[in-house]
Amino acid sequence: MNRILALPMKTVGQMVAAGEIRPGQLADAALKMTVAIKPLNAFVTVTGELLKQQSRDADERQMTKRLLGDLDGIPIAIKDNFCTGEQLTTCASRMLGNFVPSYDATVYRKLKEAGAVLVGKTNLDQFAMGSGTVDSYYGPTKNLWGSSFMQNYSIDGRFHVDDIGRSNGLSGTEDWYIAGGSSGGSAIAVLTGTCYAALGSDTGGSTRNPASHCGLVGLKPTYGLVSRHGLIPLVNSMDVPGILARTVDDAVAILNTIAGPDPFDSTTYKRVYTPIQLPARVDISGLRIGIPKEYRCSGLTNEVESNWMQVGQLLEDAGAHILPVSLPHTEYSIVCYSVLNQCEVASNMSRFDGVEYGFRADEYSTTKELYAKTRSQGFNDVVRSRILTGNYFLLEENYENYFVKAMKVRRLIAQDFDKVWQSGIDLLLTPTMLNTAPNYSDFISQDNQTQCSVQDYCTQPANMAGIPAISIPIKLSNEGLPLSVQLMAPKLCEKTMLAVAKWIEDVVKFPVLVLKDDSLIS
Ligand code: GLN
Repeated sequence: MNRILALPMKTVGQMVAAGEIRPGQLADAALKMTVAIKPLNAFVTVTGELLKQQSRDADERQMTKRLLGDLDGIPIAIKDNFCTGEQLTTCASRMLGNFVPSYDATVYRKLKEAGAVLVGKTNLDQFAMGSGTVDSYYGPTKNLWGSSFMQNYSIDGRFHVDDIGRSNGLSGTEDWYIAGGSSGGSAIAVLTGTCYAALGSDTGGSTRNPASHCGLVGLKPTYGLVSRHGLIPLVNSMDVPGILARTVDDAVAILNTIAGPDPFDSTTYKRVYTPIQLPARVDISGLRIGIPKEYRCSGLTNEVESNWMQVGQLLEDAGAHILPVSLPHTEYSIVCYSVLNQCEVASNMSRFDGVEYGFRADEYSTTKELYAKTRSQGFNDVVRSRILTGNYFLLEENYENYFVKAMKVRRLIAQDFDKVWQSGIDLLLTPTMLNTAPNYSDFISQDNQTQCSVQDYCTQPANMAGIPAISIPIKLSNEGLPLSVQLMAPKLCEKTMLAVAKWIEDVVKFPVLVLKDDSLIS
């Protein structure tokens, strides 16, 4: 049983189909795992009762040979900014601390219709504003790598996890590495084995960032390929549901389930989605892969850079053409995003006023005071500051100078990518992050904006351009922390990108974590 939580989703799906394991048994193990990993704080809500009900239904379908497909009975988790009907959806905030939506986000509905069962709602930076999962109303999420809890896992039998725990000098209680964010809870939920895949959201990198820091696959699809209906918005023009999984195949299986047009989201592509099937053997010879020089920037650590170059070399040795390219406006991405983010935040957050739903301040004598108190008590500093700055940028006298200018810069960033694709480049290869997971106390010594400017440097441009991107784990750093690379592709070219990601995955064989024994889940 201890190995089962680490198996590829497809294998587990086949075991369910063959009647070798009951969905109820999987759910039971997943639930016990959520209890065991409580100190890592990956979940805002464990949906235990719902999980039991959903897995009983799956058991029934298994017995009567009416399984709904490969995902039937498979435990998954969802970031707590996606609406789940009748289940708390908090955005890790006080504002929505008691919010129970009456409807499901489209992505959750589709997963349910495929038979997947929900383990819980995962932790995030409040309203997904952050890059570390350190700014949640419910406390930060801790990384498993380098934590004392790692002693419960072995890595592929290749080396002992205990050695890694020691070599980085973390005892687990004094200090710890951040999980990355803002979908850090989803990453840790998958990494520890409480579920086989999880949904994150990705506005500036929030799926790829924790995937990179946790050693997982993190997929950000093309903007509009997957419905945002029921995803509580951060920046509507950039938000996409993202996928955290242990393997590329698992990410593809989830993407194939959630992608496609949705009448509830007018920004989804209208074309019917054709499920992606990756070839058993991927041939990368002749592919033209660009290395953008702007990603070799200050703050990039030597280890991250040499990992990036090594992956480039592997691809070249296998017959791909590795070509230097330039995306000259890359360095403006962060500041441009910051303006656009705060403008959209100012408008999106205005719905939370204590009147319709969510938190309401106790004492007030006027409507104005009700709004002010509710919003100052219901939001953290980060959210409040973004609302204020956004409203400043949107003032009539500032609008042209900030919002309109930022929109123009956004177009230049998107055009950089267009030019590269037009020159015949198929994919771009970059690091996902400039560094490995920072430790918590170093990280929180910087403010949210500074954190994001470093953490989102490599991931943010893909959101500006609406293109797909994926983070793939490669190896462990000297400190024993995951190192990864990012691939980016033209819009709707997920298939090529995922095929190359799978090729890389097969070559580098990033270790899988396996529970050492059954005691935690039996
Ligand atoms: N770090 C960025 C922000 O705080 C992006 C977050 C995200 O992708 N959700 O806005």
